[in-house]
Amino acid sequence: MSIPKYHLITYGCQMNKNDSERMETLLQGIGFEPTDQIEQSDLILINTCSVRQTAEDRVYGQVRSFQKFKKQKPELIIGVTGCMAGRDRDGLIRKKLPVVDLYFPISDMTQLPKWIAELRPDLANTGDVQEDYLKINPLRGNLHQAFVSIQTGCNNFCTYCVVPFARGLEKNRPLQDILQEVRQLAQQGCVEITLLGQTVNSYQAPDPEQFSKENPYKQHFAKLLWEVNQIQGIKRLHFTAPHPNHMDDEVIDAMTLPAHLNYIHLPVQSGDNEVLRRMNRRHTVEQYLDIIERLQKKIPGIAIGTDLIVGFCGETKEQFEKTVELFKKVEFDMSYHAQYSTRSGTAACRAFLDDVSREEKRRRWNVLQDLLIKTVFEKNQAYVGKTVSVLVERHQTSRSEDGNMKDYCYGNSREMKLTRFLSEQPRIGDIVEVKIFRADKWLLEGEVI
Ligand code: SF4
Repeated sequence: MSIPKYHLITYGCQMNKNDSERMETLLQGIGFEPTDQIEQSDLILINTCSVRQTAEDRVYGQVRSFQKFKKQKPELIIGVTGCMAGRDRDGLIRKKLPVVDLYFPISDMTQLPKWIAELRPDLANTGDVQEDYLKINPLRGNLHQAFVSIQTGCNNFCTYCVVPFARGLEKNRPLQDILQEVRQLAQQGCVEITLLGQTVNSYQAPDPEQFSKENPYKQHFAKLLWEVNQIQGIKRLHFTAPHPNHMDDEVIDAMTLPAHLNYIHLPVQSGDNEVLRRMNRRHTVEQYLDIIERLQKKIPGIAIGTDLIVGFCGETKEQFEKTVELFKKVEFDMSYHAQYSTRSGTAACRAFLDDVSREEKRRRWNVLQDLLIKTVFEKNQAYVGKTVSVLVERHQTSRSEDGNMKDYCYGNSREMKLTRFLSEQPRIGDIVEVKIFRADKWLLEGEVI
């Protein structure tokens, strides 16, 4: 019998990617191997994202295109999981996917081996079914950098967001499990950890007795940062995404510990208090700016990223201008811009009118995009002549300034600036000091010192 094959497609955030790594562990545990060739697959699995309607529409289109494979090979299993299945309380999404055999919220992935064995007993036997999917070790492709989920779900119910519906309320992983995973990764040669959670800094350990006696902090997330800092081999630590409401002084202080990167991604979504109120963000622009000030005071030179939504229900041109103002004040190093789109099931969908036209949303998006490019280009010039510490992630041949193709190492600096330097050797996983001689908007270039 030939080895059964799966084709796994992942959309969305790092959390989804981490969940897909867990599903890979399960699938390879029952003898499946991955394939890029859809026509060779015995199982096609899509891990979906619901953040925007376009992300869901892409899945409908993709599943439709799989019908022809199913016609040729009726025993082919097609599965859909992730946020679309998670938020589909009334089954309306499921109805639009008649060709799908397996349809489940991500937390039910533990049943995957059992379901596959039921559908295709010729391919798999039922394995052990784990109770908690977060206890499944993700199968990681990259040995030097790892994403570690510390919580799932969210209690915040921002009015535009589907996450609390798709992933449920906040659930924190035991500290013991998190630290064990990080220790194991460090032993395998991992040097960089990114802690993942929807509001990662609201982390509350269900087993607080596991914190070390000498841990100096009180707030659980700050305590967790301290614990990870004690693990030998972890040289770079980062987290995403924090919520402004939990960015207290202890968290900021813990970010000065040696492993922490010189970067924070702190979503703000809007620069206008009335819009923030309607978004149910539960913080003001002034509170956000106060956090930025405290961060910059404590960690000089920290690079700052954010998320912004344009065209939220009722957002006037004046209110959008306040977002532009906020952007100019903070001078973000990175910013992800979304044009608001209504998501069924959310409070914004029920309570507000999506009344900003598509053209206006696009215009506002372009304004922010242009501002980002200009700001980042200008800010990056300050790196010229400076030395940054880079974790090498890939080695590839690319075009150099003089137009010739050359071999480069690429990786992020501690400020999360993509940096490259010439190198014949791949050096992947090395942390190297690079003196910058050229800065573009999305790339720093330098030489190893
Ligand atoms: S904090 Fe708000 S935007 Fe972030 S996941 Fe929770 S509800 Fe969604």
